[in-house]
Amino acid sequence: MNFISTRGGERLAGVKAAIKGIPGDGGLFVPESFPVLSRGELESLLNMGYAERVAVITLKYFDELDYKELLSECEIAYSAFGEDAAQLVRIDDGVYMLELWRGPTCSYKDMSLALMPYLLRKSCENYGIDKQILVLAAASCDTAKSALEAFKDKNGFKVAAFYPSEGASKMQKLQLCAQEGENLNVTAVRGNYDQCRAAGRELILNRKFADELEKRNTVLISADSFNVFRIILQAVYYISAYLDLVSGGQIEIGEEIDFAIPAGNFGNAYSGYVAKRMGLPIRKLHCANNLNNVLTDFFTTGVYDMNREVSKTTSPSLDILNATDLERLLFEISGRNSALTALRMSSIKTDLKFEVTTAELSEIRRTFDGGSANEETSVEAMYDVFVDTGYVMDTLTGCAMKVVQDWYEKNKKDETKVVIVSTANPYKFPQDVLYAVTGNDVKDSFKGVKRLHAATAMAVPKCISALRDKPARFTKTVDPKKLSEEVLGFILN
Ligand SMILES: *Cc1c(COP(=O)(O)O)cnc(C)c1O
Repeated sequence: MNFISTRGGERLAGVKAAIKGIPGDGGLFVPESFPVLSRGELESLLNMGYAERVAVITLKYFDELDYKELLSECEIAYSAFGEDAAQLVRIDDGVYMLELWRGPTCSYKDMSLALMPYLLRKSCENYGIDKQILVLAAASCDTAKSALEAFKDKNGFKVAAFYPSEGASKMQKLQLCAQEGENLNVTAVRGNYDQCRAAGRELILNRKFADELEKRNTVLISADSFNVFRIILQAVYYISAYLDLVSGGQIEIGEEIDFAIPAGNFGNAYSGYVAKRMGLPIRKLHCANNLNNVLTDFFTTGVYDMNREVSKTTSPSLDILNATDLERLLFEISGRNSALTALRMSSIKTDLKFEVTTAELSEIRRTFDGGSANEETSVEAMYDVFVDTGYVMDTLTGCAMKVVQDWYEKNKKDETKVVIVSTANPYKFPQDVLYAVTGNDVKDSFKGVKRLHAATAMAVPKCISALRDKPARFTKTVDPKKLSEEVLGFILN
């Protein structure tokens, strides 16, 4: 399958689009079409485990891959996630959690990044690219951590990870600073999430930097959700959750359900949209924001307006104003009008703002619904669920929980079932989660872990407990302008 740029300038075979990352016109790649899963295909997927579902669906977009090999690589990658990589947990009548944090770093970013080393190596092989691959992760802390773990000490790869100095929980920082492995480098970028991502995107499009890498026989590949592999791999868990509801007798095949997603950059939510376009019976995708509710306002008014300050919250992956993956949806909603999409993206650059038409807005609202939680209401939602059911969730998922509660409060007769996409293990935010469920405040992250465990009896994942004894290896912070210098310094070493 080919992928095309949202701005009209490029069309590449899937794996080539994945290697390229960002099209030369500055847009984003989207699949040229969405393969629709027939009822028969959905039924045949019912009996498969997660790894097999990933292989079948991935092949639909990246048909150059060899199915048998892909399947065996999926089995290896997801075996590290325990019994079920995408576990569905019922927490109330018609409300389910899709726990996507059983991977090596405890965030849903592992769901896609775990398979990336294989996919990238294979793609380069297919095209005779015999170079060192430099994986760039300049995004949220969770992306950076997940990319580091996935590519750690893998032959032929180097990883340059950057994370926002002002966009991390203490535990997330500890995870990054203690990273092990010889082929990688971790640096904080002074500023917030938007600034870190923007610096990364600039670097990918920087010709001079590409020349420098060329001289060193190195090719740069983005681990961010710019990368189409990630988008497609993320669509799989929506499909898988649906299938599990059917197998569990919770819904009839064909019945529509909703999903609720803590939406930061909109990559995860866009993957849900991909699943819907593939024929998965999804009624609504509820996108949850925190105080940074640009997206919620957009879904309400049709105006995307970034003229505001970013607020720092306890759900840092949502502390974002520029949800860059929204460009992919805008492209679809405009009837794949690449000129219009490019125009809107340029007005975001110049005026920090754009607007869609009334018709487009109502088309968006047929599927998408936005809501936001603030620092108190997300905590209340987490507390309520814990007290009522004993279920513990992280702060990002807490925002989605609040949005779901609001929805059913407003739509009391709605019997559509909802799956909340749970994106992080609660122990990634031990102090904030402890505060939510007990009201206790502690300064130290590991004290938080201990008390959270005492209060909830939830198992502490190894990637968190093992951190205690690991020294901080990476403590450098650089200016957003210094990314290329930092990367070049690293790969010369
Ligand atoms: C990245 C991330 C999100 C937001 O996902 P987007 O694809 O950026 O919308 C939500 N929760 C966690 C834990 C994350 O790491």
